Amino acid sequence: MDKPILNAVVTLRNEVSPWLMILNVVPDGWDLPDYVPGQFISLGLPGSASRCALAEPEIPPADPDKLIKRAYSIASSPMNREFLEFYVALVPDGPLSPRLFNLKIGDRIWLSPKVTGKFMFDDSRVPKDANLVLIATSSGLAPFVSMMSTYLKFPPQRRVALIHGVRHSRDLGYRSILMAMEHLRTNLTYIPVVSRPEEDPVPWKGATGHVQDVWKSGAIEKAWGTRPAPENAHVFICGSPGMSESMLEILRREGFKEETKQEPGQVHVEKYWK
Ligand SMILES: Cc1cc2nc3c(=O)[nH]c(=O)nc-3n(C[C@H](O)[C@H](O)[C@H](O)COP(=O)(O)OP(=O)(O)OC[C@H]3O[C@@H](n4cnc5c(N)ncnc54)[C@H](O)[C@@H]3O)c2cc1C
Repeated sequence: MDKPILNAVVTLRNEVSPWLMILNVVPDGWDLPDYVPGQFISLGLPGSASRCALAEPEIPPADPDKLIKRAYSIASSPMNREFLEFYVALVPDGPLSPRLFNLKIGDRIWLSPKVTGKFMFDDSRVPKDANLVLIATSSGLAPFVSMMSTYLKFPPQRRVALIHGVRHSRDLGYRSILMAMEHLRTNLTYIPVVSRPEEDPVPWKGATGHVQDVWKSGAIEKAWGTRPAPENAHVFICGSPGMSESMLEILRREGFKEETKQEPGQVHVEKYWK
């Protein structure tokens, strides 16, 4: 079997915590594909690539010549044509993520030339004047980082709330940049929420619990002066299936409808895994 061609290079690797990292990848000798904020692309490494120290044993071992590929939301903005940025969580017993966590700057990686996905503010699906609630857990923040940095100049009448749920405050990647965006834009509300504040080294002063608790607490209504409702808002959800299902239940009870291939709706969900 031919060895897989690793057609891109890692140019930045920032550890947010031992289980979360920001990775920048640059195509080697070819141009970045066009994309829209919210879309995803595949990364890959061969089974022969070594796994990070926090990885659990792999049984059976991966085929060294086979490319292991997975989808990743693009966290960078398409305005930047130099690199693609990814926000990756470590799954210690997974095939690809422990190999990604062992990458160093200058290492080679496979990057798909094709971008795909429909998790985006498409004018035909999301009215221009709809307010937006973006709800993420952990690395599910990635597509929203791309959206926020691209659409920093949202018209002021469009209100945007971003709720990011994590276990510990150290897992709040992009926090300082999101705080700066909130400071610069009167129509943005950023609500980080921590579910295990008792394990933080210093007392956490922000919201506690889960993203669902933030939704139910009325924090968005307080910030916006109006409650997000199907008539005035679209909700984007990205993260664990448990959180997505539970948020969908809450939203359905409040009259929201999930967008499907057949039917339009005000709730848009990106599924990272089932
Ligand atoms: C459209 C799409 C976009 C994605 N974007 C991202 C992204 O931006 N960042 C990212 O870290 N992952 C993302 N993923 C998940 C990613 O494709 C991999 O599944 C993940 O990196 C684990 O890969 P793996 O080979 O180690 O384990 P896999 O065999 O792929 O997964 C094993 C198990 O790990 C769990 N898992 C998978 N992804 C995660 C995760 N992100 N956080 C916690 N547990 C997880 C699930 O229980 C899954 O069954 C995305 C998936 C899809 C479908």
